[in-house]
Amino acid sequence: MITRMSSLFLRTLREDPADAEVPSHKLLVRAGYVRRVAPGGYTWLPLGLKVLRNIEAVVREEMDAFGAQEIQFPALLPKEPYEATNRWEEYGPNLFRLKDRKGADYLLGPTHEEMFTLTVKGEYSSYKDYPVTLYQIQTKYRDEARPRAGILRGREFLMKDSYSFDLTDEGLSQSYKDHRDAYIRIFDRLGLEYVIVSATSGAMGGSASEEFLAVAETGEDTFVRSTESGYAANVEAVTTPAPPAQSIDDKPAAQVHHTPNTPTIETLVDFLNANTDRKFTAADTLKNVLVKVKRPGKDWELLAVAVPGDREVDFKRLEAALEPAEVAMLEAADFAKNSFLVKGYIGPGAIQANGIRFLADPRVVTGTAWVTGADKADHHVVDLVAGRDFTPDGVIDVAEVREGDASPDGKGVLVAARGIEIGHIFQLGRKYADAFSLDALGPDSKPVRITMGSYGVGVSRLVAVIAEQSHDDRGLIWPRNVAPADVHVVVAGKDETLMAAGEDFAKQLSAKGLKVLLDDRKASPGVKFADAELVGIPTILVIGRGLKDGTVEVKDRRSGERVEVPVAEAVDHLVQVVNS
Ligand code: ATP
Ligand code: MG
Repeated sequence: MITRMSSLFLRTLREDPADAEVPSHKLLVRAGYVRRVAPGGYTWLPLGLKVLRNIEAVVREEMDAFGAQEIQFPALLPKEPYEATNRWEEYGPNLFRLKDRKGADYLLGPTHEEMFTLTVKGEYSSYKDYPVTLYQIQTKYRDEARPRAGILRGREFLMKDSYSFDLTDEGLSQSYKDHRDAYIRIFDRLGLEYVIVSATSGAMGGSASEEFLAVAETGEDTFVRSTESGYAANVEAVTTPAPPAQSIDDKPAAQVHHTPNTPTIETLVDFLNANTDRKFTAADTLKNVLVKVKRPGKDWELLAVAVPGDREVDFKRLEAALEPAEVAMLEAADFAKNSFLVKGYIGPGAIQANGIRFLADPRVVTGTAWVTGADKADHHVVDLVAGRDFTPDGVIDVAEVREGDASPDGKGVLVAARGIEIGHIFQLGRKYADAFSLDALGPDSKPVRITMGSYGVGVSRLVAVIAEQSHDDRGLIWPRNVAPADVHVVVAGKDETLMAAGEDFAKQLSAKGLKVLLDDRKASPGVKFADAELVGIPTILVIGRGLKDGTVEVKDRRSGERVEVPVAEAVDHLVQVVNS
């Protein structure tokens, strides 16, 4: 297969696009792989589409290899199934909703648990039919709050989603493992550097859900690893162990102090250390952070979150903890409406007296004494003891996780890094089977409720993730398995003999089964070399001045290594390089 650049629908750009921040976004646009149409909406140009299709093929092969069967749903779906599971509401503004000409409600599918469950219910009835795993590689729609970094976070994107249906919990464990193993093979074949981290807190059963994160500084996910055990988790899933409760009896009584001009933790700690004979640190203070929360179908309501003053509330952990509710910070207008909230001096007292739900960090156990706001400007209370002077309405584990924190499994401390989610495997259990009464008739003719798993791979995101992990300052460097071509033949000169030689090499390589990108344009060698580096085909064959002495040059895009090869040996040499 020969693709000729003289006619290829491709225009490379010398300048980075103005809206691009991460390398993959800049390079995929500059190299002519994608073009923006709308926020989070991109057109795939010929080279980009080839890479996308190559990735899709790897995913499909590995899914088929363990017996998953491909089907395809429409993206345009009726509302009713999503109403049955409450997701029509729960998805909130992330769901693209629309009406047809008769006024009936539709949505563009963000993920398809409902449809798969209903489909299996429609076809299968006996225990003999199970287990079964179905998948699709299909366009998904999510009205993301922050579409970002080109195709990395789109509002329309390609996902492989699969769903397993089993009779027993052991069956589900096996289906989960099959997916896990297939994902490892997929991401290994794609040449990615990635980690597998737990995505749900231990409370839900440890392995119930794991994410595959590609390691990348530009990633939106932060994950932590223990220095001493195999523990690895998305920070959203890290659980802070609660310290043991303390005795209340030996604690001094709470005392209100006049602490002028101390609206921040830092000013407060400095003031107390200068004006009392005790030593305080930020960790002795309790910071009460007010947010507003909107549960599906409900109005916005206030929520107070108390964390030790040496830590911030991690907004992503907060969002994860409150899902499916939406969360937002308070605005000036909200403070104005609730004048009992004295900014900088908010304490549990006014919060709870005014009926605001008050949730505290796991470190706030019975008997711990805190310095916190006294609900009056310039005043704080010292020795406010949990379980004696205030009792939170519940626990919320959303304080930032820091490097050096103890690992939740008690072994070692945590180190942090950033990643991009490329896959997610999840044991759903019977939630969807319950919603749609998906049963199989057992051998004793009694119904058995089916248990499910759901599993996703971000196929279009992977194009950007690979680019993110594999590039240099001159351009993209595709791993061989996904590259849009095997060999980039650059004719470095305009004269007829060079052009004819390029044409001849391309034909011979193509005859050997290689995919060839032939630069047969009438451009200068400099332009062609720069484009070859930008486009990122792993092997470049340069046909230039050496030809008259019987040699051509083979260049490795990644290492930059060049070798002179006699014309007569060049084809075999390239076949070997490509297949090695
Ligand atoms: P994220 O946390 O990145 O928003 P998610 O947890 O919502 O992702 P899933 O519902 O688990 O995503 O979807 C499965 C996979 O689809 C993800 O692992 C990711 O690779 C991909 N994906 C999710 N959202 C997007 C998006 N907006 N654009 C591109 N790929 C996406
Ligand atoms: Mg996920």
